[in-house]
Amino acid sequence: MENRIIGMRSPLHTFDFTSPKQILFGAGRVKELPEIALLNGMDRCLVVTGHSPQRVAGVVEHLHESGIEIRLFSVLGEPAVEIVRQGVLYAADGGCNSVVAIGGGSALDAGKAIAALMRNDGDVLDYLEVIGKGKELAQPSAPWIAVPTTAGTGAEVTRNAVLFSSKERVKVSLRSPWMLPVTALVDPELTLDLPRSQTLASGMDALTQLIEPYVCSCANPLTDGFCLQGLPLVARSLRRVCADGHNIEARCDMSLASLLSGLALANAGLGVVHGFAGPLGGMLNAPHGAICAALLPHGMQANLAHLRREQHSTPNSSDIIERYHIVAQLLTGRNNAEPEEGIRFVQDLATELGVLPLSSFGMGPEQVDEVVEKAQRASSMKRNPVKLSVEELRGVYLGAL
Ligand SMILES: [Zn+2]
Repeated sequence: MENRIIGMRSPLHTFDFTSPKQILFGAGRVKELPEIALLNGMDRCLVVTGHSPQRVAGVVEHLHESGIEIRLFSVLGEPAVEIVRQGVLYAADGGCNSVVAIGGGSALDAGKAIAALMRNDGDVLDYLEVIGKGKELAQPSAPWIAVPTTAGTGAEVTRNAVLFSSKERVKVSLRSPWMLPVTALVDPELTLDLPRSQTLASGMDALTQLIEPYVCSCANPLTDGFCLQGLPLVARSLRRVCADGHNIEARCDMSLASLLSGLALANAGLGVVHGFAGPLGGMLNAPHGAICAALLPHGMQANLAHLRREQHSTPNSSDIIERYHIVAQLLTGRNNAEPEEGIRFVQDLATELGVLPLSSFGMGPEQVDEVVEKAQRASSMKRNPVKLSVEELRGVYLGAL
């Protein structure tokens, strides 16, 4: 591929970048967990797991054998506001000074929110955006370590916890730079026994989280680097992990892609697909990644069509179209691929791997007004590269049905 510099949008462009203090990546590295915990003074841990705690029983046992006092807390469903309250009380009752969260996005986000509320007074709603008071955290979170067992959310390196409110039926974020873990420990071996459906959903989430930050309005040269590294990994390995979950090479690719996607989205933002996925996640019972997967080609299509229309009137449009070009080239592996071919690649991948439309989760055209109205208010929508009209947003949702 030609060497093109399109990272900086203007010579005056400034940016921030934050990440956990430490990121450890590699097959088999979960055995280092007790040592890292103790190095950080984490000798009384609330261990937050997902709905299949048996998948990580060996890791928990290893923590226990190392002399760390642990209290187990399983998050069975969505990381709901009530679950966070229960976790905080349970941690206080056990005298816990820290959190180890081992699991998928739900367990990591629950652990992240619990660690924040262990050190900050008041109720979780005081700090929640959109439906709560949106107060800033006054204190850093209790030290916590993130150990993902899926490859997709990147929640191990993001500074927000997506929580579900059963009252409003919506998913919203608790957000603060103080919510980053002391260590993100990413061991692809922990994903080897992940069922195919979760492998696919989380993998499509990673893909979405590598495309949206790359084209979004706050992309920066560091996040660009992560996206450019991550996209080819998904292109070469998502099919492979879906065909054979025990392919460790492909699992390593997807774990790395997920980690890179988390670093990108945490520092650049997302776009229209996540703008819809937030409210839809509260309205229907489907994994976040499955929702993103259904929406992704339609979100890309709407953005690209809008950009093509504006190309001659808005100076920035050509730069973003060029970014869609590069996405297409990295996904297809062909230097001459047009932006539309990137969309086709995503569509074909979704069809081939059996991504379900939103209608299979019970959504229909009659909800279009409600969904679009909620999506417009979602925080992810603010970073979409273009401001899509209500008509364009309706098209994205209806296309994904
Ligand atoms: Zn996502």
